[in-house]
Amino acid sequence: MIMSIYENYRKLREETADDVTIVLACKKRTAEEVAEVIEAGASDLGENYVQEGEKLFDALGDKARHVRWHMIGALQKNKINKALRIFDTVQTVHSAEQADAISLRAGNIGKTVSVFIEVNIGEESSKAGMPPEYDTLKSLAEHISGLEHIRLQGLMTMGPFWGDAEALRPYFRKTKEMFDRLEKLHLPDTEMKYLSMGMSDSYRVAIEEGSNMIRVGTMVFGARG
Ligand SMILES: *Cc1c(COP(=O)(O)O)cnc(C)c1O
Repeated sequence: MIMSIYENYRKLREETADDVTIVLACKKRTAEEVAEVIEAGASDLGENYVQEGEKLFDALGDKARHVRWHMIGALQKNKINKALRIFDTVQTVHSAEQADAISLRAGNIGKTVSVFIEVNIGEESSKAGMPPEYDTLKSLAEHISGLEHIRLQGLMTMGPFWGDAEALRPYFRKTKEMFDRLEKLHLPDTEMKYLSMGMSDSYRVAIEEGSNMIRVGTMVFGARG
């Protein structure tokens, strides 16, 4: 039986605990496909590329404003201004310099932007994100805490691609430990409330290990062309 995007989303939403936010990863999807998932009740969308996000945002018109937009790909400095028009949250902050640049530009347009620190939990050279060292993460969290126009709200991790979901479990667990330690710092102007981890093939394990925000594409939209 072939299910529609609408049905796939409804089913996932019904099977997933209410306190877990589902972010639909929209890379390479058409505006029609994304409109369908919004019709089905999607609350949060993720995009990897600023330009693709802008196109989607504009094509969706009013519908675009009924959902929260998350930047889940690498954000280059020269794209920050464009990104801030669309995105409510940047999940991929990985340096103090980048945090400064986002805060400065958010301030220029009178916005406060939610940010997550991306953790390269598998310490893979091919992946973006901060090394999974508590002291390094703590320094960046403290730095962001002192910036006026961005607010730290969580951690994001991809985890290594190799292996099955079970192989990711220790990485998810380690990310959750970091998250809890940072949360306990109770830094000013910081709300550590989202732990963004788990994708189509790993979200169940991620939730078991404490994720409360999953990012899924394939299982709702189908295989990417
Ligand atoms: C594409 C993507 C996802 C979703 O991947 P699926 O395997 O399609 O569920 C999640 N997070 C990021 C950062 C992505 O780029």
